[in-house]
Amino acid sequence: MNNEAGESKGKNIFSFAARLVLSFAVFVLIITSIGLLVHWKMNVLIDFEATHFVRDKTQDAANDLTLHLDSVARELEDAGDLFMRENLRPSAFVDALAARDPSATIGIAEYGGKIVAGIPFFKEASEQIGYSFRGARAIRNYAGRGVLVTVPVLKGENIRYVLYKFYRSETVAERFPLPSRLGMGHIFLCERGTGRVVADYGGNADSGIFYKEDEQTLIDIDRLMPGVDKNGNEAVTTDALGGEYFPCAAEVQNWNFMLVGYADRDFFSGGISKIHLLVLWVFGLLILLFSVFTLYSFTAALAAEESKELKEAKEEAERANQAKSAFLANMSHEIRTPINAVLGMNEMIRREADDEQIRKYSWNIKSASETLLSLINDILDFSKIESGKMEIVEVSYQLSSLLNDVVNMIRYKAEQKGLAFYIKVDESIPDSLIGDEVRIRQVIVNILNNAVKYTPEGSVTFDVQGEKTEDGNLLLRVASIDTGLGIKEEDKSKLFSKFQRLDVEKNRNVEGTGLGLSITLRLVEMMHGKIDVESTYGEGSTFTITLPQKINDPMPIGDFEKRVEAFVKGEQAYRESFIAPEAEVLVVDDNSMNLFVFESLLKSTKINITTAKSGMECLEKIAAKRYDIVFLDHMMPEMDGLETLARAKAMPESQCHGVPFIALTANAIAGAREMFLEKGFTDYLSKPINSKLLERMIQDYLPESKILNPEDAPATTVAESAAQETAAVVESEAGAAETEPETTGSAAAGTPAAESADPGGTEIDKALGLQYCGDMEEMFKEFVKMFCERKGETFEKIRTAYDAENWEDYTTHVHALKSTALSVGGKKLSEEAKALEMAGHAYLEGPEDEKEKQLAYIREHHEPTLTLYDAYCEEAEKRGFWEK
Ligand code: ADP
Repeated sequence: MNNEAGESKGKNIFSFAARLVLSFAVFVLIITSIGLLVHWKMNVLIDFEATHFVRDKTQDAANDLTLHLDSVARELEDAGDLFMRENLRPSAFVDALAARDPSATIGIAEYGGKIVAGIPFFKEASEQIGYSFRGARAIRNYAGRGVLVTVPVLKGENIRYVLYKFYRSETVAERFPLPSRLGMGHIFLCERGTGRVVADYGGNADSGIFYKEDEQTLIDIDRLMPGVDKNGNEAVTTDALGGEYFPCAAEVQNWNFMLVGYADRDFFSGGISKIHLLVLWVFGLLILLFSVFTLYSFTAALAAEESKELKEAKEEAERANQAKSAFLANMSHEIRTPINAVLGMNEMIRREADDEQIRKYSWNIKSASETLLSLINDILDFSKIESGKMEIVEVSYQLSSLLNDVVNMIRYKAEQKGLAFYIKVDESIPDSLIGDEVRIRQVIVNILNNAVKYTPEGSVTFDVQGEKTEDGNLLLRVASIDTGLGIKEEDKSKLFSKFQRLDVEKNRNVEGTGLGLSITLRLVEMMHGKIDVESTYGEGSTFTITLPQKINDPMPIGDFEKRVEAFVKGEQAYRESFIAPEAEVLVVDDNSMNLFVFESLLKSTKINITTAKSGMECLEKIAAKRYDIVFLDHMMPEMDGLETLARAKAMPESQCHGVPFIALTANAIAGAREMFLEKGFTDYLSKPINSKLLERMIQDYLPESKILNPEDAPATTVAESAAQETAAVVESEAGAAETEPETTGSAAAGTPAAESADPGGTEIDKALGLQYCGDMEEMFKEFVKMFCERKGETFEKIRTAYDAENWEDYTTHVHALKSTALSVGGKKLSEEAKALEMAGHAYLEGPEDEKEKQLAYIREHHEPTLTLYDAYCEEAEKRGFWEK
């Protein structure tokens, strides 16, 4: 498919390119042809115009010259007449004439050639003189010498003399001027026939083109001659000069002379060639424009093709993403079902096994399964976010209850790891808020879980603050502050990338997928909040989540610690559990293992459980008997839970009208709860089933009268109940959020067994201390002994630093006290030491203007803290943890 598409795309582009090149070529061809045509037409025009111009000008010049020569002859004749009439003396007459025109020589000849007066004519001229004695005026050129003009002088009817006037060659042009010259070439006067040059009138073009100076003749004159002969007194042109010049010739009538000249082509084409150039430019520009246009079209077509491809690829990717989401959703179902079985069966083992070793194995199975489950939940959440199916559902909720869930879960984990867990909750925050409780709990649990995970020793502090905003809402600020590994500066930017784990070398023993923070960030953003990280590598990190929440009821949360205790007590009462031997529950699931798990989980409640393996069987059962509750699996072959319910509701013979139907599903997809409620289910329970949630739900939906006081409900251990918390939270994230959070007091209170043997006291939290030594009483006592024996030494160090006002040392010593005190259960002492340490730090590193305040704090609390140390040791002695 793809290949074909690629090929056809290739063809498209190719044919497009071919079309483009073709049209470009055609365009260039047209433009060039037009150009050539214009060029040719212009030349024709220039030829035409130039030819006419040259012809007219030459003709005018020839006419001028004819007139001039005529007048020269006439003047001479008039002078001859005067000479005869007045009977003047020849020599005086010639002198007078010569004086008028000094550049010429003048003479009078008698018949037979004898000179009467003036300068003698040269021998070659005798023929011309003879000619004039026959009665005609004549003008002739004598090569290298000049032009001779002869006229007859009459006495009565007879020719008496011939008067002649001679112009030397150099003076001819000047003596016979041309008023209308060509002005744009070169012009000569020459003999008709021989082409011998009589006068060179010059001009602005090189004479050598046409003129052989050594022979004083014009080149190619014979070519002009036929034209001159044919046209008589009209100028002719010829292309004899190769088209660069326009030659011309015109007869000087009566005188056997011709005017010959030529004009420069440039003279005519000068202006036009500028236009020519302009046109060329325009055409060049047109070609350029067209080239650019062609190129642009080509790239645009390529881009269009590419964007089409991109669009297709995007659609393909979206389809793939949807397929991925669907796959993940199915996978969740497929994996959750067997985990359900594993967890359920394991729960049975844990309840029924007496062997400690087996219980330990079972504990491990439980913890591994839960890790697996949370992993799947992470991946599911991520796929929901990616596919846009994650919804933020705002409900009203009790902040205290949410915090309580979180605290119970994290405190247990922290304490298991030997970390101190502190809680600070701003007393003035309103308790009843509106927001997505499930997602808020999830993000808080996430950062606190990380804090515990990535803190090998020290403490995790859970800090909750609220700030009223101008619009009457609340900015909830939740921080997890740990003293753990910290994050390298260069890693901070990768923190929120999916599947990104940092500092892999150090964290290789810490479980995780690298999805948690990525999900957290997206959820926080979806809730219009933000998350900030401050961290110093090797010292610890602070993750702060800020979320805008609406206030449902302004009643403040108050002393949260106290509320936790009260809540714990209430929950404990509930945890007494129940029995219901009268109750009838029907559970429908196609998986017999699930049915067995379900039955086993409720075994201790003595409820009568009927099982059905299909929707059909369910319908039969409800037609036969009324049950108190029906649990109906969603995904079943043939008739699924939705259809079964629909039929059950429509079935007149059903005995179970009005009975609560609760959906069971392993498919933890966003909006599942809404969907089930919409389809007519009463509630929704996510698989793997959490036994406490199940019991809780049954208690909620069974008629009050059928719930009896417990007689032999099994007690659970601290570890179990707290671990179940984890499952409870995981479950509620998957959809059963509205169920009240589950808690037990034991996590907060420590190991009940250890506590019960101890008379108790104010300074020592023995349970806390025991946690730091693996619940081993002996080791605890060892620690206490050492702690109290070193009291004097510690006092000395602290006091010395105090007296010397060496606040650096002082801070170091109280810091040490903080952790040693905590490890022996000296919680109050540890907290006081910590406060001193913080003041010390603030003094050393904090702002200048606060230094006095910090010092005042230290001065005020220094001695009382040491007194607490004393009190601890006294109490320890009293309680028999050590002897002096
Ligand atoms: P993971 O499943 O690995 O915990 P997260 O997305 O929750 O994934 O966190 C990503 C990485 O950020 C972790 O692998 C860890 O290296 C680092 N990290 C997160 N929280 C902390 C913390 N409080 N202290 C130090 N490192 C942390």
